[in-house]
Amino acid sequence: METKTDRASWLKGPAFQCNPELEPTSNRPWRLVLLGPPGVGKGTIAEWLIKELGACHLSTGDVFRAAKCLPDAERSPAMTEALDYMRRGELVPDATVLEMVKERVGCLRCQGGFLLDGFPRTVAQAEALQDLLVSEKLKLDAVLNFELSIPEIVARLSDRRTCSKCKAICNLSFSPPKVEGKCDQCGGDLFQRDDDRPEAIKVRMEVYEKSTAPLISFYKKAGLLIPISCSQGSKVAFRDAMAILKKLGQPG
Ligand code: AMP
Repeated sequence: METKTDRASWLKGPAFQCNPELEPTSNRPWRLVLLGPPGVGKGTIAEWLIKELGACHLSTGDVFRAAKCLPDAERSPAMTEALDYMRRGELVPDATVLEMVKERVGCLRCQGGFLLDGFPRTVAQAEALQDLLVSEKLKLDAVLNFELSIPEIVARLSDRRTCSKCKAICNLSFSPPKVEGKCDQCGGDLFQRDDDRPEAIKVRMEVYEKSTAPLISFYKKAGLLIPISCSQGSKVAFRDAMAILKKLGQPG
């Protein structure tokens, strides 16, 4: 199953319609949260999962990056402030993130289901998500927690490069581009995200340990947590995730 929606309602806001809108899947839609520290390969695995499951990729980081490309005049003051936090590798305040997600609550009702990626990031966000889902009469099916040791994460992040055109990701050590500085997929220029620079990585890892790691016990208690090791690479982690989801069967 392949999903090629432009996610306009998610990336630009509810005034915009997705093109195409996702169709209901032949199975009932999956509603998942992806957890895991930055650099674990979550973004890549999410892309494979959405193709396979037909769900929409709801990444809060992508919303902020889309806002970064807007002219200053088209950005709300709260969003401009959020981008400063992001640049420093810090978490955007809960209130700003929650306002943005609540505005996009329609995306949680997406016919194709959803994969929340990068949200929730704090227990307060997880509680707010829970309230939103209850008010929408929706339930999470599972929380996939992608795991990797800290030294491996730091190595992956500092070598990560992103294509300025198609947003493909490569790694200078594990999957170096054929032509230096150019994307293998579309020839676009590769760049290093501000928050992948060493000083920001350090902050992001500290932030993860402090704010996001407690989500693991939150979702464990809720009986939703599924741990998935990423130590053998993203492909193996993806296959493991699919095998587990298949076993879970039809989401209820
Ligand atoms: P990501 O692409 O998910 O790694 O997000 C990139 C950056 O966006 C993070 O380092 C944060 O600054 C910000 N961000 C994304 N999602 C959230 C969130 N749920 N809560 C707070 N900050 C976020």
